[in-house]
Amino acid sequence: MTDILENLAHIKERLHIACSRTGRDPEQVRLVGVTKSVAIERIRQAVASGVSVLGENYVQEARQKIDNLADLKPEWHFIGRLQSNKAKTAVELFDWIQTVDRESLALALNREAVKKEKFLPVLIQVNVGGEDTKSGAAPGDVLPLYRSLSKMEALQLRGLMTLPPYCDNPQDVRPYLQKLKLLLEQLRQAAERPEQLTELSMGMSHDFEVAIEEGATLIRIGTALFGSRPTA
Ligand SMILES: *Cc1c(COP(=O)(O)O)cnc(C)c1O
Repeated sequence: MTDILENLAHIKERLHIACSRTGRDPEQVRLVGVTKSVAIERIRQAVASGVSVLGENYVQEARQKIDNLADLKPEWHFIGRLQSNKAKTAVELFDWIQTVDRESLALALNREAVKKEKFLPVLIQVNVGGEDTKSGAAPGDVLPLYRSLSKMEALQLRGLMTLPPYCDNPQDVRPYLQKLKLLLEQLRQAAERPEQLTELSMGMSHDFEVAIEEGATLIRIGTALFGSRPTA
């Protein structure tokens, strides 16, 4: 128990300091505990310690974890690469989908959410670095994707998410995060209801303070909370 509690206390302290540097309210930054390859007992400890939002990359791995932790009622966000043929399971299991990056996937999610009579909060994932290895919509495709999403009755677009290029020095990631923030501002200008577009999911264990300075509202933290993952 103690290592997760200690890690969490340390993350919160850093979160508060980053917020105070930029005059932000710490309540506006939610910590998403990233659970890929983490054992269920450790995830349970994190939720018991106050981590109420969890992020999972794999639909398959998620089911067991979600069933097992149902009594604690955490909010589950999907943060991995999603194939359209897994949309049905994803809608069934997850409260939010952070990685919508193409119209075909949005249509599949909407279809399943309509069937389940469920409103599904989603984020558009943006490939801010234009990297071949990463999924995410190209920055220029975000506005057209937003326009088609806004016609899908069961999807609620809440903002943008990114997995920027890895930089050894977290300061170097700043321009990519600023780009995501700018894209959200552009969407808000085009939106009928800009008050719904509030979320910026960016920042991970090694760069979340920079992300908070740049306006992150959801920081996705794996190793800083749970320790390092086994390397494949
Ligand atoms: C693994 C992962 C994280 C967490 O990364 P850490 O560096 O362990 O904090 C965040 N977001 C996504 C999309 C991930 O796949």
